[in-house]
Amino acid sequence: MSSADLQQISHRRFNPLMREWVLVSPHRTHRPWLGKVEELPAANQLQYDPGCYLCPGNERAGGARNLKYASTFVFDNDYPSLFPDVPNLEVNESGLLVARSEAGICRVVCFSPRHDLTIARMTASEIREVIDVWTTQFQSLEQTGWVRHVQIFENRGASMGASNPHPHCQIWANASLPNIAERELDAFQGHRKSKKSGLLCDYLRIELDRNERTVCQNEAFVAVVPFWAVWPFETLILSKRHLAALDELSSSERDFLADILRRITIHYDNLFKTSFPYSMGFHQRPTDGQPHPEWHFHAHYYPPLLRSATVQKFMVGFEMLGSPQRDITPEGAAALLTQAGEVHYLDRD
Ligand SMILES: [Zn+2]
Ligand SMILES: [Zn+2]
Ligand SMILES: [Zn+2]
Repeated sequence: MSSADLQQISHRRFNPLMREWVLVSPHRTHRPWLGKVEELPAANQLQYDPGCYLCPGNERAGGARNLKYASTFVFDNDYPSLFPDVPNLEVNESGLLVARSEAGICRVVCFSPRHDLTIARMTASEIREVIDVWTTQFQSLEQTGWVRHVQIFENRGASMGASNPHPHCQIWANASLPNIAERELDAFQGHRKSKKSGLLCDYLRIELDRNERTVCQNEAFVAVVPFWAVWPFETLILSKRHLAALDELSSSERDFLADILRRITIHYDNLFKTSFPYSMGFHQRPTDGQPHPEWHFHAHYYPPLLRSATVQKFMVGFEMLGSPQRDITPEGAAALLTQAGEVHYLDRD
């Protein structure tokens, strides 16, 4: 079977990071759509919203007041999911009712004082400031002895559960490794042991060589729709150099990261001419004090949109009970994203 056949025939693809299969049904996009149509989100045009709890100088729900910040702003989440000091608790009944207390730190990072900006509408130097904050946060949380994992993530858009349109992300630092980090760690370590090389270094070489799923790239980073993508327009951002976390990037690599984040989000916005919703986040080495030569720094973008600004993909039925499934092929998705271009649709004449 050649890769051209993969555009026609139902098949399964293996995700080596998660060690699971995704079902691909290329012919299925032809079916008529009678399902849920999302409301188009109202254009977000206010530069400052007096009712927004993230805008500079405003009071938050918990009563604290934001600084009148001019670039980025970090604060501890007023309603955190985790607390740094929890009593030690361990439950184990027959190996079936198993529970442990979990300590953590939850922070919020505002990207900009402007209520109406998104990464796609920020300049590369403004995004670079956000990257510097992420790096400092990663480093200082790593110094906190009991923190074994730092997750930086952004939920963009109401359909991804973002409670506020003001551009911001969250940082959760955990005492233990979350499920996905643990599975990726196993995959990285397994590949290094059996192949004596890096899983994502090897994968990167194939993607750069074939150039079938690449959306954009610069000297230090590439954005691809991974061969095993589950979400229709899912992308993976890979560093071209083998490194494991933000604090290993050189100053110019941080600029290149800003460039790739700006460009991929413009591709997204242009695709359906909307402020494209997504969940994105970085996967960095565990901060457990161990060396992690196997880990390769990367970011995932998981956008829910399928065929227009108003048609979303749902993970239901077979996907909840069997395995993930997609209709449009990753190669088709990469071509559509690439064609969407790099001049933001709101900046075109
Ligand atoms: Zn705001
Ligand atoms: Zn690598
Ligand atoms: Zn990952």
